[in-house]
Amino acid sequence: MNKPLCVLARAVVALFFLSVAALAEHPSGWIVIEERGLRAEGPAAYRLLLSDLLAVARAEWPAVVAEIGVQRPRPVTVVLVPEDSAPWPLAAWIDAQAPAWAVGYAPPDTPFAAVFERRWPSAGSAAPARMAETMIHELAHVAIYQVGGSTSPKWFQEGVASLLSLRWRGWSGPYLGAAELDRVPPLGTLKTDLAYWAAHDEIGSALYLAVADFARWASAEHGEDVLRRVLARVAREPLHLAWYGETGERIAVSEARWRLAAQP
Ligand SMILES: [Zn+2]
Repeated sequence: MNKPLCVLARAVVALFFLSVAALAEHPSGWIVIEERGLRAEGPAAYRLLLSDLLAVARAEWPAVVAEIGVQRPRPVTVVLVPEDSAPWPLAAWIDAQAPAWAVGYAPPDTPFAAVFERRWPSAGSAAPARMAETMIHELAHVAIYQVGGSTSPKWFQEGVASLLSLRWRGWSGPYLGAAELDRVPPLGTLKTDLAYWAAHDEIGSALYLAVADFARWASAEHGEDVLRRVLARVAREPLHLAWYGETGERIAVSEARWRLAAQP
């Protein structure tokens, strides 16, 4: 897309989100909490949970953007999507795009890091650690969008986002068994289609662990800043070129070495 068109497209997208956000403030029973460029929105019944999440987001967002390499972070909004999202336009809009099994979702190239009520404790309770972990994962996706990484392969984005959220909970990997690792297809063949991940639900968590572990291995092998160096290039070139440019190694070779190293 040429530059004026690109700027115009971004302005239209920004206007759309502004209008969605503005709409979202109006329905009764919906609250917006805002502190220093960070917002949390959701049903008023979840006020305690939302302020817990916002406190974690405020503490962790600077580290997330530093890790991803965002030079000038733009505002981000944590959205609590309730089981029945229909009464609230922003929640319903996010819900309509996310796969049915998702516990969190960040719609590509938006400022929204959403966590879903499903599978979590109900209104009136504090945010459990797993919910905060999901939020960190979604914040990482938003940071990846902010460096222009949304066009990179989904498995790579999931690897970076999962690494950050797993680390937040104290994971140092690898936790994959040999049998699980054998079932992880070549990373490059993991489809960008979310349906793939849903259809492979039984190994879904193994896939997330695998791509996170590849990212962890790469950081140990090619420098702790390798992921943000690669991310800085994926906005303008394919992942395999960005990878080769930053590591001096074909990504398939990196993957083969990671698989050998990851064998328990
Ligand atoms: Zn993700």
